[in-house]
Parts: sequence; C-alpha cells; structure tokens
Amino acid sequence: MSAITNHMPTAELQKLDSAHHMHPFTTGSELAAKGARVITRAKGVYLTDSDGVEILDAMAGLWCVNIGYGRDELAEVAARQMRELPYYNTFFQTTHVPVIALAQKLAELAPGDLNHVFFAGSGSEANDTNIRMVRTYWQMKGKPEKNILISRKNAYHGSSMGSGSLGGMSGIHAQGGLPIPNIHHINQPDWYSEGGQSTPEEFGLARAQELETAILELGEERVAAFIAEPIQGAGGVIIPPSTYWPEIQRICDKYDILLIADEVICGFGRTGNWFGSETVGIRPDIMTVAKGLSSGYVPIGGSIVSDEIASVIDSGEFNHGYTYSGHPVAAAVALENLRILEEENVVDHVRNVAGPYLKEKWESLADHPLVGEAKIEGMMGSIALTPNKATRAKFASDPGTVGYICRERCFANALVMRHVGDRMIISPPLVMRPEEIDILIERARLSLDECYEKLKEDGLLVSAS
Ligand code: PMP
Repeated sequence: MSAITNHMPTAELQKLDSAHHMHPFTTGSELAAKGARVITRAKGVYLTDSDGVEILDAMAGLWCVNIGYGRDELAEVAARQMRELPYYNTFFQTTHVPVIALAQKLAELAPGDLNHVFFAGSGSEANDTNIRMVRTYWQMKGKPEKNILISRKNAYHGSSMGSGSLGGMSGIHAQGGLPIPNIHHINQPDWYSEGGQSTPEEFGLARAQELETAILELGEERVAAFIAEPIQGAGGVIIPPSTYWPEIQRICDKYDILLIADEVICGFGRTGNWFGSETVGIRPDIMTVAKGLSSGYVPIGGSIVSDEIASVIDSGEFNHGYTYSGHPVAAAVALENLRILEEENVVDHVRNVAGPYLKEKWESLADHPLVGEAKIEGMMGSIALTPNKATRAKFASDPGTVGYICRERCFANALVMRHVGDRMIISPPLVMRPEEIDILIERARLSLDECYEKLKEDGLLVSAS
C-alpha cells in the first residue's frame, strides 16, 4: 500500500493531465501546450517536482500550509479518526466528538463573543453560509428588507455563486451570471494604485467613508452587513492605511450593520496575531475561516459567529448545511493543527521572529529599480512592479504581462511567488526559519534582476500614458 507517486515520466503525466483534468483559473489550451508543473512531494517549506527539483514555496500552497508540509502528527490523527469514525453528519440533531472539540477550541481562540461555529468544506462555502445567515438573521428580527451585503471591488471571497458575487473580481463576475442580487461593491483601500496625490491616511479615511455614503444611498434599513478581508489577499496583498479600519468599525456600529471579517487568509497567525481582526483592531460579528484552520491538509471552513447572531439563528430552523459540515476527519486534523500552532508558539514566532526578520529583508527589495513599493504585515507581503518608481507608474503593456514574466523567472529560480497583475505576492509557511527567508529573498532578488533585464530587452520598461 502506498501513496500515488510519480510513476511515469513527467511528459506523460502532463499529457494525461491536460487530457482529463480541468484546472481552476487556467486557460486549458495554453496549459496543454506548456504542460503543468507536477508536484510530487513536499517537506517543510519545500516542494519537489516530478523532475526532482526542490522549490521554495513562498505561497504556502494557496496561502494555507501554515505549519509547513510533512507533519506526521496530522497524518496520524487523520488515520486514527478514519478508523474510528470516518464520517458522520451533523444534521438532524446529531454530533460527534471531533466537531464538538473543534468548535469549543475555535470559540476559545476567537476574540470577543464569537463563540459559535457553523462548519463548511471551504472558504467559498462558508461565505455562502454568511450571506444566508445574515439575511436570515435580519429576517428573524423582523427586518426582511435589510438584505444587502456591501463588499469591495477587487475583494476575493471565493468562486461559488454567492461568494463569487461577494468578491469584487470583474473576471469572476463576467462568467455565469454573477453577482446575485443585493450585493453592492465599494472601492478598495489600495493607496499605491489608486491614492493619487493624497496621503495614505487621507486616502484610507476617504475609502472607508465610501461605506457610509453607500449606506446612506441604499438606506440603513436595507443594509445587512459589510464584508472584507482585514488585509486583501488575492487582490494583491493590499495592506490598508492605518485610518481605514477604525472608520469602518465606527460606521458599522453607527448604522447597525453586521461586520464580517473574512479571515480565510489572515486567520491562524498569518498577520502575527491569531486573527487579522486583532491586527487591524476590529470587532467582527462573524469571521470566515478556512485554509490555515487545517494548514490545508484537509478541506474545512466555517463561520464563527457572535452570541447574538447564534441566539437569533438558533431560535428557528436554519435550512442550510453541507454534507461535510463538521466532517470528523477534517475536524480532528484541524484540532491537531491548532494544537501544534499553540504548543510550538507559531503565532509568537510570526510576531517576534520570522515576521520581523522577513519584514526587514522584504522591505529591502524596495531599492530594486523595478520595485515601487514593498510592503508586508506578518507573513503576507507584496511588491508593486513599476517602470517608474518616482511616479508609481503602471506599465504600458497589458496588466499582468510584467508580473507573469517575473513569476516565470521565480519558477526558473526554484521559488514559488505569485503575481496578481503586476504585483508580486508572498504568503510563506509561518514556520519558515531565518535561513530559509534568506534563500527566499536571494531568489526573489535574482528573479527581479532577470525580469528587469528581460523587460529592457523586450522594450517593456515603458510607462502607461
Ligand atoms: N476568502 C478569502 C479571503 C480567500 O482568500 C479565499 C481563497 N483564496 C476564499 C475566501 C475562498 O476559499 P476556498 O477557495 O476555500 O473556497
């Protein structure tokens, strides 16, 4: 008995992959011509591909492998749980020990009175739960017309019908009839790209006040909730100016609007606290969690909600749930992951060791001729590529052309760094050690150098007019 391993040459695997496997967020025909990178193993912060190349994973998979790859404890717990109770559901008045223990643990870790968890299989599912839950909450309180959710352009909350509608990605809205009704989007607090001549503080305040303007336009009695990531992840790791979140909190309080913090990326230590909400100083009514909850070892997500919301929702029947809500194997693995995070002081490691070390090195990349801004909070960072540092200019080429070139140089240098348009982003495993951070920075700088040379050669070092 063994894991499914690399049993054929890479080219064969690639051919089969493109023949039968449809990839998310990928142009299939392009990939068929090129062949997918086949990952066969991983340990610590390194991936190994089917040709035996070791690659430093500065994205922790998709922002999720927070404790790093290859932790036997999680595999052991999963195997034990599968033997004992591989599956049972939590519908119709039943429960099981792993889900009870995990819900209790999350209530303990979550701030304030966020003491109740509705489980899902992913972040998208959890955000779909949130849409239905906040609308049902207001309906049960006798305000059925309070059903609009406000979100932000360039937010990412998932790609299902509901969560994709909550998100503000135009590419997602363009396909499949999204957004669903009664979702409203305001602008994002991206000072670097959109702040013009204002200071970051002025801009942060102005962008937060767009929430108040929207509430007044739509009518306070129509707005159910505001949802946002404490720090936007997939939008390009956009760290809001310090003035932004306090103003958002003030507005939500003033107009009795529920605040949903999407902690799918920021949660479980990524920003140097257990939750991003603590880092930016907000008191959400609901937090969406997934990814780092299990360090990505098994799929699990959930909505952690306040005493008040739970008491209203639980006073009737919430006609909602997923076959895998509170799956016992996923719950047991998540619990073990949280145990490791706590016992190995991983959040402290981010706040006091890896975070500050990475910040110093990451910000040093700002001296590179191609880098307009290098920002980081905890272990999530971005750099904005620019043809003109002084003016924060965008490139004349289609957005993402330069980012893609840079990402390809990173791959060639055995580093996974992702691009969002012409921003490069990282979100490494939280357990990354200083010597591994040195390698990350060395490879990132080399890739930037090579990208810069290529742009010069190809005549792409040109500002948009
Ligand atoms: N919310 C945020 C902030 C995310 O980053 C993501 C995934 N990148 C999701 C929700 C969706 O999670 P999933 O892919 O597990 O559905």
